[in-house]
Amino acid sequence: MQSEHRTTALSRKKFLVGTVLVAGIGMNMPVLAANEAPSMSPDDALAKLKAGNTVFVQHMTTTRTQTIEERAALGQGQAPFASLLSCADSRTTPEIIFNQGLGDLFVVRVAGNVATATETASLEYASAVLKSPLIVVMGHSACGAVKAGIDLTKGESFPGDIQALAAIIEPAAKTTKGQAGDWTVNATKENVRLSIARLNQSPVLSELVKSGALKIVGAYYQLETGVVSFMESRSQA
Ligand SMILES: [Zn+2]
Repeated sequence: MQSEHRTTALSRKKFLVGTVLVAGIGMNMPVLAANEAPSMSPDDALAKLKAGNTVFVQHMTTTRTQTIEERAALGQGQAPFASLLSCADSRTTPEIIFNQGLGDLFVVRVAGNVATATETASLEYASAVLKSPLIVVMGHSACGAVKAGIDLTKGESFPGDIQALAAIIEPAAKTTKGQAGDWTVNATKENVRLSIARLNQSPVLSELVKSGALKIVGAYYQLETGVVSFMESRSQA
């Protein structure tokens, strides 16, 4: 897998600066460093993430090694095989828990893995320009941002912009209130579904999903075990 990755990295000759018309979408997208073609299918990308998480669960320490040659090649462009929208929580670093390295993952991290305009724009860039074939929206156990969303439904308030972030998550807390099981877990998974739904509202992303070039899936990370469970999301396109 490692030598295959190195070959791919070295073959990335295309380095564009400026704008390019994204085929099939019909809008100008900024291109800073783009790969030539998607390196794998959405399903293969998902399988690779699952395999990486299995290594992490069993060995804890990441086993992905990289060479100076590979790092130098990455200076010419990037072709991340998957993108993540995940929480800023210090315990949920995607490169570690999926056993990946520099250039492998396009990661958007924000407390509560919410999808506002800036997060969506980042993933539009990863998917349409870098041709990353998979987006994983990943929530996690004991998420403080989700807890804030739940606390908001109880009438609590928060300082600064935390209030606004909690308000984005609050609908997931309201929807899952009173459901069987743990409220925080249920709200976290619902919040993932809502983020996926918001991403699907992006014309750029939904076109790619429709064409089969992109899949958007949900996931739940359990802090103690290291296990990432992929969700069968009813809100997937
Ligand atoms: Zn969190």
